[in-house]
Amino acid sequence: MRIAVIGAGIAGLVAAAGMQADGHEVTVFERRDEPNPAGAGLTLFNNAFEALDLVGLGDAVRNIARDGITGGSIAVLRRSQGEATASWLLSVPVTAAATMRSVHRAALHHELLVHLRPGTVRTGSAALVAADGTPQVTANDRDEQFDLVVAADGIRSQNRRLVGLDTGLRYAGYTAWRGVTQRPVSFDLQPGEIWARGQVFGMVPLLDGRVYWYATRNLPEGQRASNEYEFVQQQFATWHAPVRECIAATAEDAVMRHDIYDLAGPLTTFVCGRTVLIGDAAHAMTPNLGQGAGQGIEDAATLTYLLRDADAGELDTILARYVQLRKRRTSVVMRRSRAAGAMAQAEHPFAVGFRNALVRLTPGWVMSATMQRLQRWPSPVR
Ligand SMILES: Cc1cc2nc3c(=O)[nH]c(=O)nc-3n(C[C@H](O)[C@H](O)[C@H](O)COP(=O)(O)OP(=O)(O)OC[C@H]3O[C@@H](n4cnc5c(N)ncnc54)[C@H](O)[C@@H]3O)c2cc1C
Repeated sequence: MRIAVIGAGIAGLVAAAGMQADGHEVTVFERRDEPNPAGAGLTLFNNAFEALDLVGLGDAVRNIARDGITGGSIAVLRRSQGEATASWLLSVPVTAAATMRSVHRAALHHELLVHLRPGTVRTGSAALVAADGTPQVTANDRDEQFDLVVAADGIRSQNRRLVGLDTGLRYAGYTAWRGVTQRPVSFDLQPGEIWARGQVFGMVPLLDGRVYWYATRNLPEGQRASNEYEFVQQQFATWHAPVRECIAATAEDAVMRHDIYDLAGPLTTFVCGRTVLIGDAAHAMTPNLGQGAGQGIEDAATLTYLLRDADAGELDTILARYVQLRKRRTSVVMRRSRAAGAMAQAEHPFAVGFRNALVRLTPGWVMSATMQRLQRWPSPVR
């Protein structure tokens, strides 16, 4: 089949690589001149790797990822006599997080791109679908016909709006900074998050010992500082040493800031005619469960598998099955991400006290069971 993929993000590239390997004729349209994103880290769980395995990419991504991250933890910031320390609220059992791997985003993009034949990705090509779902792409003032169009154009998907499926975006109430240290930073803590009032700091080691960190703070949307590096340093200046060291060990121009949004509500469907949405275009979620890209990878692998050995005459059935497999799963993860974000970003002292008590009292096996359920991919393979 002739398949157009719009967007060379993680979801689009996994779909394109999988479908091309299966013999489909694939063209990727990417509006940016360079498909590689600025670098920060990413955590991927077992569900993402199972999906990558199904499309033959699992080992390639394992090779660039750090594993052996045993456990993970949630801590609260404590201050005594002016000194800040972190005290653990919950140590996530090894059984719950043992399958977590961390990867540098730029390395992941590079790895996915090298799996595509040269010329597959057309950069500088902002692409739009037909509003009635006809499998046609308009890019650079040219219309092209395909058998299927896969829109993987991210959280602000123009194509989701064009086909009338948009539910709008919701500001989650907080902003996030991300960075990767230039050198290894040792912290004698497990990878995990430290929670304070309306603020979170997370640290995850990468393959080469550098640390991917993220920091959040409840703030009105749309605010920007003249220097984000200095601003985030100020926001976390009274936190304990590893937090301050992670920020200090990051290049000033490598700190990125994004306000956090998710879809205002789940979409009614991911399909309009012969256009199908995958990744953030279909179900953008807050990053609190580290599952956004993982869900996009699941979408891409599910669609690739369903299209294997199929012809265009079977597309209606295939797309209906895709929606059936993906809609409920992604709605649940979206909802849980949003709830996890609200909990982590709690700010009112009563809410914070209640949250901390609740997390402290949560038995390890409950946490383990919840996380394992999230990491269970509803594979299309019967
Ligand atoms: C702070 C933060 C931390 C996160 N951490 C994690 C994590 O640890 N683990 C995890 O799994 N997920 C995480 N996520 C979520 C993850 O980043 C996203 O879910 C994922 O990158 C979405 O991939 P995508 O391919 O769907 O979209 P994108 O990565 O947004 O890619 C969309 C692509 O489409 C292109 N495009 C857009 N419009 C057009 C057009 N009209 N024509 C052509 N091209 C177009 C864009 O340029 C872009 O290249 C995090 C998100 C944030 C904000």
